[in-house]
Amino acid sequence: MTKLCVQFSGFMVRIYQGDLTKVATGAIVNAANQAMIPGGGVDGAINQAAGPSLAPLQRSLGPLAVGQAVATPAFALPATKIIHTVGPQYDSRRPQLMAAQLQDCYQNSLRLANQLQLPALAFPAISTGVYHYPVAQTLPIIGAVLTDYQQQVGTVKQIDFVNYLATINQQYQNYFRQLGLPVQMLGD
Ligand code: ADP
Repeated sequence: MTKLCVQFSGFMVRIYQGDLTKVATGAIVNAANQAMIPGGGVDGAINQAAGPSLAPLQRSLGPLAVGQAVATPAFALPATKIIHTVGPQYDSRRPQLMAAQLQDCYQNSLRLANQLQLPALAFPAISTGVYHYPVAQTLPIIGAVLTDYQQQVGTVKQIDFVNYLATINQQYQNYFRQLGLPVQMLGD
């Protein structure tokens, strides 16, 4: 799968289409729900691939406020850890709250990965599935978190955005290309 690599100051970002459960990295981020009861979408895929030990542990960590992040082992997954965060369920009447909550998801997940001293982190497109956050509106929020991170880079030096859907991946790649940072396309 072709990856778009973008060089930020102090860390690298990669954007590609794929299945997050297959990514060997420091932590993959799960788009969980507040109850921390394994659901569908990426949460279901992660639980399926991690094995049955994850669900009871995940439940025991709930309820989790929107925007917060907690870590668990990754069990049978190739990643080292899972960072569970709860994205906002999109409500077009509350755009500022939505943006603040989604920013918290990305920021708190990144902070936790650094606290765990992980070298790398991989995100799905949080809230863009059953929570219906328009992808185009999530991208400047992600961009702002990454821009901010340049001021205080920790152990996390590689951040992947792993998109299950080609359409979403295209939107991500278009967004990152127009930031004006050095980019490279890499094969596997
Ligand atoms: P949310 O409730 O936060 O919207 P979903 O799991 O419904 O969470 O969707 C979040 C995003 O994850 C969507 O863009 C969906 O296409 C994507 N997704 C679903 N399965 C996977 C997977 N295995 N790997 C990466 N992304 C996935």
